[in-house]
Amino acid sequence: MAFDNLTEKLQNVFKNLRSKGRLTEDDVKAALKEVKMALLEADVNFKVVKNFVKTVQERAVGQDVLNSLTPGQMVIKLVNEELVHLMGSETTEIALKPSNEISVILMCGLQGAGKTTTTAKIAGKLKKKGRNPLLVACDIYRPAAIEQLQINGEKQGVEVFSMGINHKPVDIAKAAIEHAAKNKNNVVILDTAGRLHVDEDMMEELQEIKSNVEIDQSILVVDAMTGQDAVNVASTFNEKIGIDGVILTKLDGDTRGGAALSIKAVTGRPILYIGMGEKLSDLEQFYPDRMASRILG
Ligand code: GDP
Repeated sequence: MAFDNLTEKLQNVFKNLRSKGRLTEDDVKAALKEVKMALLEADVNFKVVKNFVKTVQERAVGQDVLNSLTPGQMVIKLVNEELVHLMGSETTEIALKPSNEISVILMCGLQGAGKTTTTAKIAGKLKKKGRNPLLVACDIYRPAAIEQLQINGEKQGVEVFSMGINHKPVDIAKAAIEHAAKNKNNVVILDTAGRLHVDEDMMEELQEIKSNVEIDQSILVVDAMTGQDAVNVASTFNEKIGIDGVILTKLDGDTRGGAALSIKAVTGRPILYIGMGEKLSDLEQFYPDRMASRILG
């Protein structure tokens, strides 16, 4: 599970803090230095870590923590609050239009990040909320991806729209929206093609869809196991096409957790959901406060 090492390290720091009745400024500094090391080892972005420690330190001084009755506890509380803040404080929902209108969601990401799986997972969630989603196969480069979407859509009891591999993704998207209007689907989820690396063709294709189709939410899927690469990918997609939120997959296999802690701070875009396994039910809403509690153990 994610954060195992980080949790263990932080718990050691905190145990030390709690064991001391009074704290000197040096005690706090030393503890925060250890927190810093632990976060860096967890592959959290360097700038994010620097700011984090600086903020906790300033708040500790500002709130006169050293003269409080339980200084150790106060420092731990500050670390907790700043972790929550780092991850965006609030839970962010996918923003959809009212049910009597069609919302269009663009799913994007690199190949292998878990985009097609996550698209089907999201459809299941929306269906449970009473929506009638339509999944759209816009990956025209990998027939296997179309088939995978069809299989997963069937498992979720959600219709899949496909035009094979001989049409442009933007035209498939337009046709899908027309289809949705006739068939009373109120959410259209476009599963676009990924590449192994960020490349211009992929970005141009996404830009073309965004310029010709009214997209309500652009959601990027990134693999937590790739750590800071996931954060860099998120920054690039946000700069090139603009994203509204991120879904972080494979958090079940990521033992460090750096991406979860860095994405919001680096890109300004919130994590919406986290993928916790390969099953179509393994998608959880992202709660910054619960994640912070999980990290602190
Ligand atoms: P795509 O190329 O981005 O569409 O990726 P896929 O949806 O095909 O997923 C790639 C692999 O990652 C598949 O084997 C999925 O089962 C797996 N996968 C996706 N999400 C998760 C997750 O949250 N946890 C785990 N452990 N595996 C995942």
